[in-house]
Amino acid sequence: MASHSHKRTKLGVIGAGGVGSAVAYAATLRGTADEIAIYDIAGERATAEGLDIAHGSMFASEAIVYGGDDIEVLRDCDLIIVTAGARQKPGQPRLELAEANVKIFEAMLPKVMEVAPETMLMIVTNPCDVLAIVAQKITGLPTNRCFASGTTLDSSRLRWLIANKAGVAIKSVHVNIIGEHGDSEFPVWSSANIGFVPLDEWTTHGERVFTDEVKAALGEEAMKAAYRVIEGKGSTNYAIGISAARIAEAILQGEQAVLPVATQLKGYYGIHSEAAVSLPSVLSYNGVERVLEMPLNDEELQKLKNSADAISASLASLGY
Ligand code: NAD
Repeated sequence: MASHSHKRTKLGVIGAGGVGSAVAYAATLRGTADEIAIYDIAGERATAEGLDIAHGSMFASEAIVYGGDDIEVLRDCDLIIVTAGARQKPGQPRLELAEANVKIFEAMLPKVMEVAPETMLMIVTNPCDVLAIVAQKITGLPTNRCFASGTTLDSSRLRWLIANKAGVAIKSVHVNIIGEHGDSEFPVWSSANIGFVPLDEWTTHGERVFTDEVKAALGEEAMKAAYRVIEGKGSTNYAIGISAARIAEAILQGEQAVLPVATQLKGYYGIHSEAAVSLPSVLSYNGVERVLEMPLNDEELQKLKNSADAISASLASLGY
């Protein structure tokens, strides 16, 4: 990894729960950064997760990994992935959970910015796209440096479902879920393809596979995928862990890779909204360097507007 021009990179992870530790583990395996620091108010947990991951580093990357409850562990991070949050109590409405997370952000983020004034923030804590705007307002960071992991995970889930159905490698499936990371998200079927064959024309034994019914079912399954995992193990962590690590390395390693993350919709598609929605975006050293206006048909454009409205409504109800 070391080269003459290589600037050492430091990745921070806030939250040493299921998601934060999976992010740190995936980042260590992939060599996402030279240094990975985990911060949590639960200090013993953060220290233990840091040690457990570091103990296996002989077989992973050369990253230095550690954790703790002193905000100083985050000093001079280049990018911080925020996974800290309140746990959803049984029957607790979403808005109440969002309010609890807003309070955590208001108390925590100013301290984070004091020790890491140059950092970018990637919000994973849910509702991630809503909280990305809350975090922007608290820190004053521009949207390209304060964004949400958004629908990168959801898109990966959908591609996995399509790859299985078509019997092809997941990396040869091209489709995005965009919009809100939540109920109003939607797959952009109009440009979906497998190895340049439009999805609608994909056949197996001469039969069209991805009929409207099949597409609707797959879209629904991708959107509800988390519920199935939560039923079985209480929460999701591995897939979001590797998704967030993947986004982080595109930024820290200046890849100019395109992934759907959520930034503020300032006039894209003619939609002037304060909301952050996921759209395919070019990621590099400055975070989200460009948001792409992928072709959308009228129905998809309407769905994008609905997503922006849903997120704006959440922001308003949170007083942001
Ligand atoms: P968890 O309860 O296991 O971990 C949360 C951690 O946050 C805890 O260790 C807690 O001590 C810590 N924390 C709470 N307040 C803090 C503060 N003020 N400062 C520092 N740390 C603090 O929860 P989890 O399963 O890891 O999930 C974390 C979040 O990630 C949730 O909001 C969840 O909804 C979200 N999530 C998002 C996605 C996505 O795609 N965006 C996917 C999965 C989970």
